[in-house]
Amino acid sequence: NKITIAIDGFSSTGKSTLAKELAKKLEYVYVDTGAMYRAVTLHAMQNGLIENGDIDRESLLKELDGIDMKFVFNQELGFAEMFLNGENVEKDIRTLGVSKNVSQVAEIKEVRSRLVSLQKEMGKDKGIVMDGRDIGTVVFPEAELKIFMTASPEKRAVRRYKELLDRGEDVKYEDILENVQKRDYIDSHRETSPLKKAEGAVEFDNSDMGLVQQFERMYEHSLR
Ligand code: C5P
Repeated sequence: NKITIAIDGFSSTGKSTLAKELAKKLEYVYVDTGAMYRAVTLHAMQNGLIENGDIDRESLLKELDGIDMKFVFNQELGFAEMFLNGENVEKDIRTLGVSKNVSQVAEIKEVRSRLVSLQKEMGKDKGIVMDGRDIGTVVFPEAELKIFMTASPEKRAVRRYKELLDRGEDVKYEDILENVQKRDYIDSHRETSPLKKAEGAVEFDNSDMGLVQQFERMYEHSLR
C-alpha cells in the first residue's frame, strides 16, 4: 500500500539526496518543494522585483499566479527538473544568489499559500515523497511517515560548499555558513508556518551518520 512521506528539516541536511533515493527505491514520485520557492525567487530576480535584498512585494503578488513553473521528469537523471517559463532552471535556482533571497520570499504569506495549494494537488495520490520545511506540519499533516532532519550548521555548510564548488561556483565557505545560519533563523522564526518538527515525526540527526546508514533507516521506516 502506497503512503505519503513528508520530509522536513533545515537546509543542506541531505534531505533531498535521501528523499530522491527513497522515492526511486519505492517507485514513488519525488517533489522538492524548495525548488518551487527558489523558482519564484529566480523569477522575481530576473524581473527586477528584488534589488539588494529588497522585494517589491506588491508586483510579485500580482504576478504570482501567472508564474509558469513546472517539474519535468528527466529519465536519465531519474528525477524531475524545474522549468521556469519553459526554460530548465535546475542550475540557476541553486546558486548562492538565489539562496540569499529565497527565505525572504518564502516568508510572504501569499507565496506560501499559492505553493502549498500546488503541492497538495501534486500529492493528492499516495506514493509521494515530498521534502521541504512545512510538509509534515502544513502540506500533509496526515502523512503516514514524517521525518525531521537536522545536522550542525558547520556540517551543512561544508556539504553546500562542496556542492557549489563542484558546480563551478566561486564561493567562500564563510559566506555559505552565514547563508545557512541566516536561512535557519528566518525559516524557523517566520510568522506563517515556521519550520518545526511535526507531530509524530521521526528525527534524524545527520551530523555523524553516513548516507547509506541513513538511507537504510529511512527505508525501514517507510515499510512499517
Ligand atoms: O530546501 P531548499 O534549501 O532548497 O529551500 C530553499 C528555501 O525555501 C528554504 O530556506 C526556505 O526558506 C524555503 N522553503 C520553505 N518551505 C518549503 C521549502 C522551502 O519555506 N516547503
